[in-house]
Amino acid sequence: MFNNCSDKSRRRFLKISALSMAAAPLGNLLLQGSAGAEDLPKLDESDPAAQSLGYVHDATKADVKKFPKRAGPDGATEFCKNCQLYSGAAGQEWGPCSIFAGKQVNANGWCNAWVKKAG
Ligand code: SF4
Repeated sequence: MFNNCSDKSRRRFLKISALSMAAAPLGNLLLQGSAGAEDLPKLDESDPAAQSLGYVHDATKADVKKFPKRAGPDGATEFCKNCQLYSGAAGQEWGPCSIFAGKQVNANGWCNAWVKKAG
């Protein structure tokens, strides 16, 4: 009786393990199929929306005459990576920005919509 019950449990455990192992590659395939933020195209500086906000990949090259917000010592501290609208991971060179949906901006970039990251 005890052995019969133990055999059933063992068979059930082996069945579940086999199903889990079979399902793992399928799960990986599904995950690989979904586009991550790193797959988004990089925003082109010549994009009309980018130009209207003075976006540049290198914040130090911002046109401070046209966009004085980035002028002076305070302006020099503004980068996409410390902007509230940037959602790239820390340490990543590129990341998404809610202003330019569907595109990535450079972590060291800047545009006139910059907002200090909270916290
Ligand atoms: Fe960079 Fe912020 Fe401008 Fe987006 S809104 S491009 S994160 S400065």
